Amino acid sequence: MASPKLIALLCAGSQMGSTGGGTNRAVLSRSELAGLLSGASEAAMDFAYAAYALDLDAERMLIARVRVAAANLANAQKWEIVKGRPTVSNLSAIAVFEVVRPLVHKECGGVGCRLCGMTGTKLLSVRTIAAAAGLSKDDFHRNWQDRYRQILKIVCELDAEVQGVLARADSGRREAL
Ligand SMILES: [Zn+2]
Repeated sequence: MASPKLIALLCAGSQMGSTGGGTNRAVLSRSELAGLLSGASEAAMDFAYAAYALDLDAERMLIARVRVAAANLANAQKWEIVKGRPTVSNLSAIAVFEVVRPLVHKECGGVGCRLCGMTGTKLLSVRTIAAAAGLSKDDFHRNWQDRYRQILKIVCELDAEVQGVLARADSGRREAL
């Protein structure tokens, strides 16, 4: 599994503050978000609605988009895949889940500490990811760990785009005051 540090790197700046309730995402309404997100891509909008407005339709759309992007990766890199097994599809959904609904790291209460690489989030274990994707731990280690990392990166890049747009919206608002 990717180390907490790697996730922290991939998802740098993805934390918006603590709300409790199992995730450490701030919850905003769709309309609040829509105003802040002008200029973002549709995929990034879906990410933002899923992550910050807890919008399940947007989450489904996001998963569908990540599946397409992951399937393109699989084609481009000629991943050997067992026919009929939805491994790429499953891992795409897990990657979305891992980024959109990060679990709070209990040891620090989501504040961020050395153990979690300052992310404040608890990563899914290799065992959990492999089981959820219907893979053995060995198979996951051997064939899928790096691929999963690449799929995770697709989601993290949307996260980064949203962070960038929100940061610009925020500084614009401050200038207007
Ligand atoms: Zn921690």
